[in-house]
Amino acid sequence: MLTAIVGTNWGDEGKGRMVDLLSADYDVVVRYQGGNNAGHTVVNDLGKFVMNLLPSGILRPETANVLGPGMVVDLEHLYGEVNALRAAGIPVEPGHLLLSDRATICLPYHKLLDGLEEDRLGDRKFGSTRRGISPVYADKYMKKTLRLGDLLRPDSLRQKAEEMIEWKNLVIQGGYHAPAVKTDDIMDWLERFGMPFAEFICDTTRTLSAAAAEGKSILFEAQLGALKDVDYGIYPFTSASTTLASYAPIGAGIPFARLDRCIGITKAYSSCVGEGPFACEFFGKEAEALRAAGGEYGAATGRPRRVGGFDVVASRYGVKMQGCDCLALTKLDVLSYMDRLPVCVAYEVDGKRTEQFPALIDEQNAAKPVYEYLPGFACDISACRRWEDLPGAARDYIRYIEEAVACPIKYVSVGAERDACIKLF
Ligand code: GDP
Ligand code: MG
Repeated sequence: MLTAIVGTNWGDEGKGRMVDLLSADYDVVVRYQGGNNAGHTVVNDLGKFVMNLLPSGILRPETANVLGPGMVVDLEHLYGEVNALRAAGIPVEPGHLLLSDRATICLPYHKLLDGLEEDRLGDRKFGSTRRGISPVYADKYMKKTLRLGDLLRPDSLRQKAEEMIEWKNLVIQGGYHAPAVKTDDIMDWLERFGMPFAEFICDTTRTLSAAAAEGKSILFEAQLGALKDVDYGIYPFTSASTTLASYAPIGAGIPFARLDRCIGITKAYSSCVGEGPFACEFFGKEAEALRAAGGEYGAATGRPRRVGGFDVVASRYGVKMQGCDCLALTKLDVLSYMDRLPVCVAYEVDGKRTEQFPALIDEQNAAKPVYEYLPGFACDISACRRWEDLPGAARDYIRYIEEAVACPIKYVSVGAERDACIKLF
């Protein structure tokens, strides 16, 4: 069984918690895109953990966890994340964690460039996490990056680094007038944070091919959501990678594999980190109340997330782009405080009503939400564990969303803990 767990919206839908729950049935969990700009929160009997680079299956000792070729890996961050887990008593050893030799290294100067550009933009900034993700993906496609496997070839590593740094300083020094990057510093950084992972780096394509051939089950864990996909999202306010399920086998290292299942994670309301169009956004007190109820502060950066009501237009589009077979509707408990449940059923663009998510930024920016309201359930549902336990208004909301986005809802989560989840079929 090859299953992708993906976001149908702007990210932070609760993918990490669903991977933590469902990984019990999988032998391998693979992250296939992005870097440490993700924040996947997992709460279970071991404690509360935020994963940035590591797959959310890392808390299960019997599960192999892979960082695939489609990822960009900041080794210093990985070093910190692995050591934090070890300090919490979670062993992280080769075999339990595998790093693709094809994955791209996110270097300190990528982070530097991310910050320099956001600062240059000032008010026009993208709201980047400043973790170097766009600069490193740009360099990947310029074919001027180091890959993890290069660490295993110390003879040629310095020369490769030198050539890239010479090119990069044209921009850093010449363009931004910042101090030049020194090859020695980069070599020291690679030695300090990369070499401890030498035994974790391997041809994960071979390992995963063998696993798939043996009939082992593989879970592909996405970062962010459909609307942050570089081609199909709110470009240019997207991430720099492909967040969609159809990229999962490629980014994971088994491009020939076909997914058996795609589970979309959809939140019972909307949230978005960073700048860019977000038609259903709430402001003022309405936003503060929802942000507080949902704890909507970025897991990677701590930034307050923008929030709004459930967006049918964006979610239906996200579900379609992801090719979801079924959905998990998360954080339904958060809506307990509302008397009526806001649902954005259409956009108005230049005075015309549309139910289609616009392809381009100008229409996306112009879109005004058309809100309708469903009756609220106005009670604590966090202890519900069966469909029958849910109040009628909560069930009606679930059925309404299911129909509106044209995909069956299989799971409903009502709390952050692993077992705070209702399976509907
Ligand atoms: P991801 O990036 O898609 O993995 O999502 P995040 O982990 O960034 O954001 C989801 C947040 O909501 C985390 O803090 C979770 O602990 C929390 N969470 C997940 N599911 C539920 C739920 O059903 N109810 C509540 N109240 N919190 C949840
Ligand atoms: Mg997140």
